[in-house]
Amino acid sequence: MTLTCPNCGNARSFLIKTLQMHVVQIQGDRVDVAEEGRPGIIECLCDECDTTLAFDEVDDALRKEILLALGAR
Ligand SMILES: [Zn+2]
Repeated sequence: MTLTCPNCGNARSFLIKTLQMHVVQIQGDRVDVAEEGRPGIIECLCDECDTTLAFDEVDDALRKEILLALGAR
């Protein structure tokens, strides 16, 4: 398992941005969330120096672990 910042060498702490979609239905004065997608990862940054990391290139096993931990897809 490896995810290492190429700039500062940090391999422990990362900032991951996710995007989640919701379908909201409004009926009169009632608001329902009809559907919630699982969050998708849109960006992965080094938490130490803010370098953008290529999350697509992270090795499969680690990527799955991270996705699982985030409840993402
Ligand atoms: Zn870094």
